[in-house]
Amino acid sequence: MSSQTDMRLYVLLLIACLLPSLPLPAEKYPAGTFTSPVNRQIRLSGTFGELRTNHFHAGLDIKSARGMIGDTVYAAAAGYVSRISVNPFGYGNVIYVDHPNGFTTVYGHLDRFAPKFQQYVKDEQYRQQEFEVDIYPAPFQFPVDQLDQIGILGNTGHSYGPHLHFEVRHTDTQVPVNPLLFGFNIDDQVPPTIQQLIAYQFDDAGQLIETTVLQPKLKSPGVYSMDQPLQIGVSRVTFGVRTCDYQDGQDNQNGIYSLQCTADNEPSFAFAMDEIPFQDTRYINAHIDYHQKLYQNRFFHRCYALEGNKLPIYFKGVDEGMIYLNSEFPRNISIAVADFNGNLSTVNFQVVRNTNLFPPAALMPPFELLAHPDEVTILTKPGIQVVWPKGSFYEREPLTLTPLPGTTKGFFSPKYDISPDDIPVHFFFDIAIDASTIPLKLQDKAFIARFNPNGSYVNCGGTLVGNNVMSSARQMGTYGIMVDTIAPTISAYKFSPTMSTWKKMSFKIYDNVGARDKAKDLRYSAYVDGQWILMSLDGKTGILTHEFDGRIGPGAHQLIVKVWDDRNNEGVLQKSFTL
Ligand SMILES: [Zn+2]
Repeated sequence: MSSQTDMRLYVLLLIACLLPSLPLPAEKYPAGTFTSPVNRQIRLSGTFGELRTNHFHAGLDIKSARGMIGDTVYAAAAGYVSRISVNPFGYGNVIYVDHPNGFTTVYGHLDRFAPKFQQYVKDEQYRQQEFEVDIYPAPFQFPVDQLDQIGILGNTGHSYGPHLHFEVRHTDTQVPVNPLLFGFNIDDQVPPTIQQLIAYQFDDAGQLIETTVLQPKLKSPGVYSMDQPLQIGVSRVTFGVRTCDYQDGQDNQNGIYSLQCTADNEPSFAFAMDEIPFQDTRYINAHIDYHQKLYQNRFFHRCYALEGNKLPIYFKGVDEGMIYLNSEFPRNISIAVADFNGNLSTVNFQVVRNTNLFPPAALMPPFELLAHPDEVTILTKPGIQVVWPKGSFYEREPLTLTPLPGTTKGFFSPKYDISPDDIPVHFFFDIAIDASTIPLKLQDKAFIARFNPNGSYVNCGGTLVGNNVMSSARQMGTYGIMVDTIAPTISAYKFSPTMSTWKKMSFKIYDNVGARDKAKDLRYSAYVDGQWILMSLDGKTGILTHEFDGRIGPGAHQLIVKVWDDRNNEGVLQKSFTL
């Protein structure tokens, strides 16, 4: 037995102690079922459960062989293609394969599909006259064998560098599972790096009084410590950990697999990234320190769960991660983080209560309403109403709604500050702002804008209901009504009046206002001689591309491209060309 296996068993035992209901992975996730979808050793640029903006990463990001598009992607096991989607955002070009063992594998960001799927998708795109399609072929219409070609590794959709996004899901629930549970071999003997800790200090009433960022020191591989015992003035403390993991010889900062926190050797809090349902993935904003993410772009795992956090990944000891202190006895804290191979890094330190250090009572900023995680929350001011559904907040939050003084050119309402801006919101909340000053002819051009601190703004959508413009958002901040009467633009990117030797032509679309939340992204259509033609859209760059495939014959042609923004402003481009 290798030392790596020893370590893996050791960690499994640790986790088994902390998570008594967890069955052994071997029963639940048949090992050896799936082969590597790139048919070679897997190198990772992203792990399952890795912390991302508003979600946990639902699969593995598998690096391309040479940092380029073009590696063949293979079916990890026999089954049939159950779904094929094309999207300018998200997964890009993606194929789903259902397997007889009850799991579905997902292959995202493909540059293109294998020829038989590619032709099927293109026919469907012409039938629907849409680039963006989501197709569910009949079972067994497209059977695949293990290692059949699925497509070509790419960079489509929300991908910033060629890689394969590979997921394994339960077919019946579509809940994503950590693919490494199926026994893929990853070269990794490097323990995770512990970058920083945060101590959250609470008073006897459970009120957060102070947060302190701590810098543990690396003593030897996998062993961290603090120079001094941590002295705390108050009676309760919990922790947050900023950590990442490297694989052998790779410089990608990946996510950890599990964390466990013990106090005086008693289990206090733990989690493992085994399965995270999509419907729960936004609880990441409760799992992490949202303020640190927003202002420092740093992800800290909290070693305790906020009241409204419903993620199913936690084990909670009797103290649920809240370490209680008295003046007599120091507490011995150990926080261990592990990667999937069981490489472990631990930081051990003592916490001592020192009542001389009792911090001044936190000055609670003035607020209008204390929101509760389990209640509907409504804030109203003349000209605006904001309604948060139950479960919007993860803890009690002091809310304020403030009209900002002054008017600004281009605004059809005051700006309203919905604060504090550094607290996460789980569900969409409704905003209704009085729009009675908008001229009739501009009413359908009005939308709810969210303003960034630098003065730029985005369109969050809007519907006129009575005298109000209404929409929904999921972020605290500054909102107001604006109108958009400016059409999106289309410009020739790769185009010539004569293109007889060209393989493709492309155009760039752009709009003056970005779309978020309930606002629709740019829609477009292209026609040659009155017939719809397929144009792919790269959501990252706004580039539309038509590949000449014989549908447009030799000779002179008329091209029309139309593009619409969320407020239905229309941009048109007309060009003549010969092939
Ligand atoms: Zn990914």
